[in-house]
Amino acid sequence: MTRFGDALAGFGVTFSTMFKKPITEQYPEGKQPTQARYHGRHQLNRYDDGLEKCIGCELCAWACPADAIYVEGADNTDAERFSPGERYGRVYQINYLRCIGCGLCIEACPTRALTMTNDYEMADDNRSDLIYGKDKLLAPLQPGMQPPPHAMADGATDDDYYLGHISSEGGAHR
Ligand code: SF4
Ligand code: SF4
Repeated sequence: MTRFGDALAGFGVTFSTMFKKPITEQYPEGKQPTQARYHGRHQLNRYDDGLEKCIGCELCAWACPADAIYVEGADNTDAERFSPGERYGRVYQINYLRCIGCGLCIEACPTRALTMTNDYEMADDNRSDLIYGKDKLLAPLQPGMQPPPHAMADGATDDDYYLGHISSEGGAHR
């Protein structure tokens, strides 16, 4: 195509765009839903009786290419149990100044403790409020859940939890 032809083709794009209806999102007054698998804020999930799924293994932190996750695990005891099994995540932090939303952390998690929500409203004006701890990341308690620490369901094993055999009434069903 000649240079004149190139110019005409370019102006053609401009010309055709002039008659299209503009798409202007009225955010924040009007919020559009995200795609279902949008990578938004993370969530630390619970079992149906309220115990935490996180076992403090740090695999998510090792998988993170941005070094955005900090985890400190600790031992559960019979007197103070936060998750089934031996360990739980005593400290869990995600630094959203570093996170690039890649989702590698949720792929690495062996218990599906860590998933991502569609929540994207996380802007803030200082560093410390963008480091989210368990207070912001833990899933809210649903009806029937008991806040940890508490014992595992009667007669239940770790496997019953991992296989999803625990009900919100605190019983194991196999
Ligand atoms: S989404 Fe990616 S960058 Fe963000 S915490 Fe997970 S692994 Fe790290
Ligand atoms: S969120 Fe998952 S991968 Fe990360 S420490 Fe907890 S159990 Fe391990």
